[in-house]
Amino acid sequence: MGGREPSVDTKAIHAGEPRPRIGGAVAMPVFQSSTYDYQGETDYHEIRYARLSNSPNHLALHAKLAALEHGEAALVTASGMAAISGALLAVLRSGDHLLAQDCLYGGTHGLITKDLPGLGIEHTLIDRQDRGAWERALRPGTKAIYVETLTNPLLQIPDLEGIVRFAREAGLVSIIDNTFASPVNFRPLEIGFDLSLHSATKYLNGHNDVIAGAAIGSAALIERIKHLHDHLGGALDPHACFLLHRGLKTLGVRVRRQGESASRIAGFLESQPAVRRVNYPGLASHAEHELAGRLFDGYGGMLSFELQGDVDRAERFLARLQIPIVAPSLGGVDSLIIRPAAAVHAGLSPDERAASGISDALIRLSVGLEDPDDLIHDIEQSLMD
Ligand code: PLP
Repeated sequence: MGGREPSVDTKAIHAGEPRPRIGGAVAMPVFQSSTYDYQGETDYHEIRYARLSNSPNHLALHAKLAALEHGEAALVTASGMAAISGALLAVLRSGDHLLAQDCLYGGTHGLITKDLPGLGIEHTLIDRQDRGAWERALRPGTKAIYVETLTNPLLQIPDLEGIVRFAREAGLVSIIDNTFASPVNFRPLEIGFDLSLHSATKYLNGHNDVIAGAAIGSAALIERIKHLHDHLGGALDPHACFLLHRGLKTLGVRVRRQGESASRIAGFLESQPAVRRVNYPGLASHAEHELAGRLFDGYGGMLSFELQGDVDRAERFLARLQIPIVAPSLGGVDSLIIRPAAAVHAGLSPDERAASGISDALIRLSVGLEDPDDLIHDIEQSLMD
């Protein structure tokens, strides 16, 4: 490329592709083989066997994902939770302590608060607004700090630069779930995070047809996670690798278009008397609007909002919609909508939800690739009560 750094779009298509092309194939073929001929490998983790995440499909994806976020290495996993659990278990031992942001994806929150304590790994959940809280919660055994780029479902943005500085000073491994932003809008390693995790089920794949995860970071950290992951056994199947690989090629156009549509829908919702509050980082009313504009290349395709009225009103609104599908998950071509208190955050107690600011009438929308005018028309019709 003559010294010019290719953009995310070019890397999504060309980075990590095998050279020479396998059999001349332009599209990466699927290697639906569990095992490969023995070539004298002496290290268990190097044996060519699909559970060890080293088929040609895995290797191409690792190189592509590492290039997309400027990491030295990457690992794909059988789900986002496999990447999150693998990363936390690789970094933390019994007796260690984790600092984590208080508002987290429900599965991650459950892992940290319900499963890790049984393994002797303690945690403190920190209010993202309380800057001094990170320092106050620090203990001799604190080893890592865990945040999300944009919180689910409130789209809050932590002080990401401050967290990286704090982690460096305190010698902590800084881990971020970058699912909501995707590498198109934010690349956490560029500002100094040690490890970026994704539910690749979402924007990276983008078609609501794969469950997958990814971890991106230094070669040493990714090797630690891979060795544990090889034993835990949550490797991504080669066919799912193929689908993720194909989905990644259109990442840039999808995420930008979803962001443009979400911006318009957020503006429309904010103008509606039936809507009490809209959470979208692209709105001037968002508490971290300035931070998002500075750190991100786009505001993303996720938004949440609260309707005036009670839960029944919110349920009636959802029932009337014709285009967005009422379903969990996000980041795909189909718009998906959900009431988090009833679904993705149902694992939290009402007190925990209230503490996290997730009201029962909050609605989360993942904007897909439908025409934004059609989506706005559908929402407008469904708001009439
Ligand atoms: N992180 C975030 C922000 C998520 O929204 C999700 C799932 O919704 C996950 C992680 C878990 O990913 P997966 O469902 O692929 O295991």
